[in-house]
Amino acid sequence: KVRREAARRRVLLPAPRSFCAGVERAIEIVERLLEEHGRPVYVRNQIVHNAHVVADLESRGAVFVGELDEVPDDALVVFSAHGVAPAVEREAAARGLDAVDATCPLVAKVHAEAKRAADNGDTVILIGHEGHEEVVGTIGVAPERTLLVESATEVAALQVPDPARLTYLSQTTLAVAEVEAIAETLKGRFPAIKGQGAEDICYATSNRQAAVAAVVDEADLVLVVGSANSSNSNRLVELARNAGVTAHLIEDADAIDPIWLSEARTVAVTAGASAPPRLVDEVVRALAELGPIEIIERAVTRETQEFLLPQRLRASGGGPR
Ligand code: SF4
Repeated sequence: KVRREAARRRVLLPAPRSFCAGVERAIEIVERLLEEHGRPVYVRNQIVHNAHVVADLESRGAVFVGELDEVPDDALVVFSAHGVAPAVEREAAARGLDAVDATCPLVAKVHAEAKRAADNGDTVILIGHEGHEEVVGTIGVAPERTLLVESATEVAALQVPDPARLTYLSQTTLAVAEVEAIAETLKGRFPAIKGQGAEDICYATSNRQAAVAAVVDEADLVLVVGSANSSNSNRLVELARNAGVTAHLIEDADAIDPIWLSEARTVAVTAGASAPPRLVDEVVRALAELGPIEIIERAVTRETQEFLLPQRLRASGGGPR
């Protein structure tokens, strides 16, 4: 018996992991619209950055488009969880499209902060990744007054109109430590800058990072379930690698290469905020097929965050979930 126990591979499941409240809300918005309106429901951009979620909704009648010009007149269109620039909302209104906004309330909060800062005459320094949909939307709040920085090194080259009138904000799904470092660099260069450390990073992103950080020293391998374009999932992989542990981003259980497991006695399995929990279950099942495992849940906190559905969907029974 002792020998058999020793041979078991430990599978650590850091929690929280997988879906956050903003992703659940965005998916539920599309599901309810499909039920009430029937197909097609157009969705501008991937509703959340996960290939399985998108394929599932597509099979049920959602049509994903890159831009509004792909949406027919008078159609129903959903804006994704990452948020849109006000110009997109205006375009939808001008076209007479029936638009439903699935922007995560925590992204909407950053938009509101950007608007307030710009209205006060500040230049907004946005810490984020160029081209990411959330960043495109947030820059769009005050495009004339927003500058993007991706790293502490970029801060040195930043040219601002007035160093006394600056506010920094960040993308919600970055690495907490990295944003704190960039914020410190910004404060060093522009002592009058306003901003709150890594405050704009959402609870789900920071909790998933804290959960991986709590187990990474015990792990020989970290598997992060998530799509390649999922920012918060990529940050989890980076966090593990920065701690010196081999880590892979995997779309699902099929992406596991058994070679990774040959030397790995302890494997941590987590998932980004856009990855469905069932994909983690499937990864654990796949690991079990490669040899006996012992599953150990490791929670750093319990999430209770809930977001209301948009008003028009609440009447049909949608409450917080
Ligand atoms: Fe909202 Fe954060 Fe989830 Fe993005 S990861 S949808 S910002 S809660």
